[in-house]
Amino acid sequence: MARYTGPSCRLCRREGQKLFLKGERCYSTKCAIDRRNYAPGQHGQGRKKISDYGLQLREKQKAKRFYGVLETQFKNYFEKAASKPGITGENLLTMLETRLDNVVFRMGFASSRKEAKQLVRHGHFQLNGHKVNIPSLTVSEGDVIKVKENSSNSPKFKELKEAAVNTPGWVSVDFEKLEGKVISYPTRQDIDIPIEEYLIVELYSK
Ligand code: SF4
Repeated sequence: MARYTGPSCRLCRREGQKLFLKGERCYSTKCAIDRRNYAPGQHGQGRKKISDYGLQLREKQKAKRFYGVLETQFKNYFEKAASKPGITGENLLTMLETRLDNVVFRMGFASSRKEAKQLVRHGHFQLNGHKVNIPSLTVSEGDVIKVKENSSNSPKFKELKEAAVNTPGWVSVDFEKLEGKVISYPTRQDIDIPIEEYLIVELYSK
């Protein structure tokens, strides 16, 4: 499966804000946005006037990069979101938010979405009692995600039992059991990423 293999920090610098792709490093003084907050490349420090189209494009790129989704897959999400009842932009964010890798991250089982994706791919989780290794799976209300028995003894997950992790209200997590449940679908208010989703809708509506 295609995936971006370049430097993560470059993506944040391109968007001009933290996308939190590298876990703890993002909260440290080593964060590239804190040290070099300008776009990468030879002309990165030049002043640019950005068009309406440019704004819309950047917002779409930012959303893709937050969730680690490539172009075609993102467009498919948009088309599904547009075909559902309700507000397309909000449908889109809810669909992205309920990807299995994002839910693993939101439950605090991984320090970043990127790590969550890798942990899922390596088969460390069960969904409703069945092994899963597809990060893009969509989870539903009532679904239970659990760290696999064999994996729960690894240092990574043992540490979690001791750490206090803040989780959003739409999931509940039992860190002793290394198990989390999706209580409800996230609403727009629950999704704290700084995306102006209407710009993405405008872009795809052209
Ligand atoms: Fe982005 Fe994290 Fe790199 Fe900072 S450390 S630039 S937030 S990926």
